[in-house]
This record gives sequence, C-alpha cells and structure tokens, in this order.
Amino acid sequence: MSLIACHECDLLQQRISLPAKSKAQCGRCGAVLYRNIPNSIDRTVALSIAGLVLFICANVFPFLAFEVSGQSVQATLLSGAVALYKQGMWEVAGLVIFTCVAAPLAQILLMLYIFVPLKFNRLPYATAKAFRLLREMQNWNMIEVFMVGILVALVKLTKMAVIVPGLAMWSFMGLIIVLTAGASAIDPELVWNRFGFKKEQPGND
Ligand SMILES: [Zn+2]
Repeated sequence: MSLIACHECDLLQQRISLPAKSKAQCGRCGAVLYRNIPNSIDRTVALSIAGLVLFICANVFPFLAFEVSGQSVQATLLSGAVALYKQGMWEVAGLVIFTCVAAPLAQILLMLYIFVPLKFNRLPYATAKAFRLLREMQNWNMIEVFMVGILVALVKLTKMAVIVPGLAMWSFMGLIIVLTAGASAIDPELVWNRFGFKKEQPGND
C-alpha cells in the first residue's frame, strides 16, 4: 500500500489506481494529488517538437512591417523588438523579447531536455532542477498572450509599424496553444517517480 501526502495540507492518504484521464483530489482541501494522463511522455515530446517548429516559423517569418523613408521594411518579432528599443521603448522591447522569444524557447528546450531522455528511460544531468524550473515557468504561461496584445496595441497607437497577419502571427498563436497543451500533458507524479524521488512519501528522513 502506498501513501501520498497532500502538498497543500499534508494530509496522508492512500493511493489508488485511477482510470485514464481522471484525477485524485485531497479529501480534506480538494487539491489535486495526482492525475492519470494517458501517454503523458509521448504527448509531451510530440508537443515540444511541434512547439519548436512553430517557434522557428514565428521568429523567421515577418511579424511587423515598418515604413522607412517611403519604403516598407518587414521585421521579425526579434528585429521588431530591436526597432522598438532603438525608438527608446526599451522596457517594452525587453518585455517582448523576454516573454515572446526567450521564455517560450526556454520552455521548449527544457521540455525536450527532460522528456526525450525520459522516453528512452534515461535521466539527463540535473533533471530535477530543470523540471522545477520548467514548472515554475509554466505557471507564467499566458503572459506572452498579454505581451503580444500590448505589442499589437502599441504598434497601432504609435503608427510606427503594422502587424503582418501572416505565417509568423499564426505560428505564434499556434505556439501558445501547443505550449499550454504541453504543460497540461505533463504528469509531475510520473516524472518525480522516474527520478526516484519519494517526496510524496514523508517518513524516509
Ligand atoms: Zn489537502
């Protein structure tokens, strides 16, 4: 018989096997104890690869178009942010680069780093640290939606540039959906168990 302690209220409860796609909740406080996500690792890997492809499309194809001395110049998300920086809007430029480029890329790379080896029953170096960092970042997931909204509003307000509603824009939208799906495909229980951490079973120390 295995026991699980609620991470919210520390109540010890007996672990039971769950039917697919269901979750076990704490009897006292209702916090989710664990889930049964079918093919969790395969789905996470597939979504990470899809995320990487979408990320590349979102960053390679033009996202913005600027008017420079009568000529229209197209810019990617990154070069658009650099243009914002040059216009003196370095705070917005920094936020756009961090939330729309750096953070999604870091999440995708962390997911691949952790879950590709897990699929082949291997543990990469410093997995536990990487996994904690990934979960931390996923708590902030929807912030890039908010940031891209600010970017669009700013571009419209300042009339500095226009948004190109092309492949990059659609890829970015797809990327957000895929990252959200990726985060919910992860089964933290399963990952911690693979690491051999018995953190859900106090009394070992
Ligand atoms: Zn509880």
